[in-house]
Amino acid sequence: MRFDVITLFPELFAPLLSAGVTRRAFESGQVELRLWNPRDFAEGNYRRVDDRPFGGGPGMVMLAEPLERCLQAIGQNQAVTGLTTTECRPVVLFSPIGARLNHASVQSWADSDGAVLLCGRYEGIDQRFIDRHVTHQISLGDFVLSGGEIAAMALLDAVARLQPGVLNDEGSHQFDSFNPAIDGLLDSPHYTRPEVWRGEAVPDALLSGHHERIARHRREQSLATTARWRPDVIEAVRSAGRLSAADEAYLRSLL
Ligand code: SAH
Repeated sequence: MRFDVITLFPELFAPLLSAGVTRRAFESGQVELRLWNPRDFAEGNYRRVDDRPFGGGPGMVMLAEPLERCLQAIGQNQAVTGLTTTECRPVVLFSPIGARLNHASVQSWADSDGAVLLCGRYEGIDQRFIDRHVTHQISLGDFVLSGGEIAAMALLDAVARLQPGVLNDEGSHQFDSFNPAIDGLLDSPHYTRPEVWRGEAVPDALLSGHHERIARHRREQSLATTARWRPDVIEAVRSAGRLSAADEAYLRSLL
């Protein structure tokens, strides 16, 4: 899969490319990342990429024209590399307007061929460019960032770790929070050595060596964690019919 990121600050993506799980995904070629700076497509000595908002008010607005030229260059580049003929693939804008990023949408991007990711800056982007070119909008949450780059990196990181073989321990994301493999519940607590730390022992079940007992313990801890911190998620899992009679009995025992 290939992601083409449009950003005025391509250097912000360096940490993603240089460390950990994301680096492995990019180095192995499973996730291809290309960075595009609209400034390279801006005109004049000053290579303007922004201007004052019509109607007045504070801040600056990103110009449509350099963005469109940037998008056209991406389209041509994709065609040269055999990805597409004319149109760019989905164009995703990071914006507080968008649907909040969650596991289901990350999974669908992870299963896709990729996208163009557009990072806004300043007050945002000329609406006419958005109307003409943007196909999806994604938000990180109900707060305002100073740019779309951190949101783009959040999506890229989450997508990269879902690629087969990218995590060290194959399949280790299977039991991560929200994964359908654990029915969308939150992850259970983790423990490592020593067995007793500051007088607190690791739960017996985890030391028992009994596969089924460990699995049951983890399931119960996932249920308890989810019920405590995200009752809305328990409700969603319940209405999806994914709680067994034993799960329900355990949840009742917590009350
Ligand atoms: N004036 C805008 C905020 C602009 S912030 C408003 O009030 O809605 C500058 C850029 O940061 C935005 O164009 C967007 O790309 C990015 N951004 C800000 N908040 C975000 C969020 N919650 N999720 C994703 N991107 C966000």
